[in-house]
Amino acid sequence: MDTTTGSREEAREEEPGWLGIEEASPFTVKSKATKVAADAKRWSSLVNATLVVLIMTMPPLIFIGGRLGAPTVWIKSTVANLGAPVGEESSKDVLLGGLLVPGFDKQSCASRYQSVYYRKNMTRLPSPYLIRRLREHEALQRRCGPGTEPYIRATERLRSEQQVLDSNDGCNYLVLISYRGLGNRILATNSAFLYALLTNRVLLVDPGHGNTLPDLFCEPFPGTTWLLPPDFPVANFRDLDEAAPESYANVVMNRSRSVTGLRFVYAHLDHDASQANRLVYCDDHREFLHRVQWMILRTDQYMSPGFFFNPAYESELQRMFPRTDSVFYIISRYLLHPTNEVWGMVTRFYNSYLKDADERLGIQIRVFGDENKSAQHVLDQILACTSREHLLPAVASTGGGGGGAPPPRSKAVLITCLSSWYHDNIREMYWMSGAGNGEVVSVHQPSHEGQQQWFHGEHDMKALAEIFLLSLTDKIVTSGQSTFGYVSHALGGLTPFITYRTMDETVADPPCARTVSMEPCAFTVPHFDCVKKDYTVDIPPRTATIRTCEDVFWGVKLTEAEA
Ligand code: GDP
Repeated sequence: MDTTTGSREEAREEEPGWLGIEEASPFTVKSKATKVAADAKRWSSLVNATLVVLIMTMPPLIFIGGRLGAPTVWIKSTVANLGAPVGEESSKDVLLGGLLVPGFDKQSCASRYQSVYYRKNMTRLPSPYLIRRLREHEALQRRCGPGTEPYIRATERLRSEQQVLDSNDGCNYLVLISYRGLGNRILATNSAFLYALLTNRVLLVDPGHGNTLPDLFCEPFPGTTWLLPPDFPVANFRDLDEAAPESYANVVMNRSRSVTGLRFVYAHLDHDASQANRLVYCDDHREFLHRVQWMILRTDQYMSPGFFFNPAYESELQRMFPRTDSVFYIISRYLLHPTNEVWGMVTRFYNSYLKDADERLGIQIRVFGDENKSAQHVLDQILACTSREHLLPAVASTGGGGGGAPPPRSKAVLITCLSSWYHDNIREMYWMSGAGNGEVVSVHQPSHEGQQQWFHGEHDMKALAEIFLLSLTDKIVTSGQSTFGYVSHALGGLTPFITYRTMDETVADPPCARTVSMEPCAFTVPHFDCVKKDYTVDIPPRTATIRTCEDVFWGVKLTEAEA
């Protein structure tokens, strides 16, 4: 049982509206319908005004679904510490070239406008077309989101078990089921948003068991919530699987694209999805799926490369992302803003241990199977990689090194792992003997949780804080096949050195490789050619911008075509 989450809930009840900001739990969205509509109207008119007018005239906005509750002690210490790093230039473009809209309340979600002070300048900028599409999509989320008349109508149709086709108000929905580990969930959310954008669907995310999503991320869309309300009328939607009559494969295969009597379509794009279900990637949304008002999606995957296989989306994707390798990076900067509680963990650790180093190296260690095991071959492989790629200096053979004048260069190493054993060994290595090149190497690890858990409040918050911390490093080594690692490097726009996973407890040779792009690897993409309608090939086609992942031969990743 998640006692931690329980205590936070109690704190919320005792302290409504802390900091003077009105709160509304996502569980109260229905009763807040009028307010949502009012907020939505206000946002619509604001979007049409100039940015200058926006900044000067708009009062702090109130968002429904904002889960800001936490003990007073935490609020005082965290909000006080959530400023931009002392001494940083104050003229940073906090709106990231128009990717973000101004007007969100700054205190209730400090990371939204502050992360720019911790991050390197964006290496890929959003295209003007993407910015326009995002503003249009925000308007759609506000117009059709929970609490609005169209949403109430749409859920009533679903509840009354009518055939839910052809909405006449232009409000269609994509419901994302949350499951599995945090890395998987972030990949799923990022790519589900791209799918919502491509298909003009309102994205509603299942807050997950224990309602943990609002403890992790702030609301991304102004004036509305992305949290699926708890009274969503499809009972046990989290249990849907490939056998469901509504699954895309069953609809397409058995009914020859007949949509008669269909309430919703269930897209099963889990890592083990059948080829028939993966046909979603080839669907020309304009011909079939657009008639279905509700789509429920299960995926633990990064789906975005799959959309690039579909000729129906080709020109739209090209206009939104002229650089193919920027998809995850730009969407995550737009969508994923950690809550104050998580952001406080990120900034406190960063300012204490990483900020002042000349260089920051991230090492993400994921041991599958027995997670808390001390695996010598994993440690050997990490050290072989960092040595081969000149990421960590060799230790001095004499036991000396360091301490001389002029002041030595410093390197801070951030290690994340469920076990502390790897950190302890590497730190001791640089304690017993200094670095041969005189560098001062400090080694830090925020937590060692022992075992992975799913949907466990504080455990998830630590994991998210560590993912963000890794994304703030300058260079990074990640573990092959780990979605935790994929998200960490992709979020930071870092092209990682990825260690190969071996199945026989040996050290891979070579131990690691620099990947072709900063994009995450996608394991489950169509194994067919959407253009030729050839469903017999068993390897996904490769193109100039879709390449095989270094660590998963059956996976693909987006990359920029070589000049
Ligand atoms: P994957 O299993 O490596 O693909 O990554 P996921 O993030 O999907 O699932 C692993 C889960 O284990 C995470 O969600 C965390 O709960 C936990 N975990 C794994 N590695 C770490 C780590 O380095 N730090 C922390 N705090 N948690 C971790």
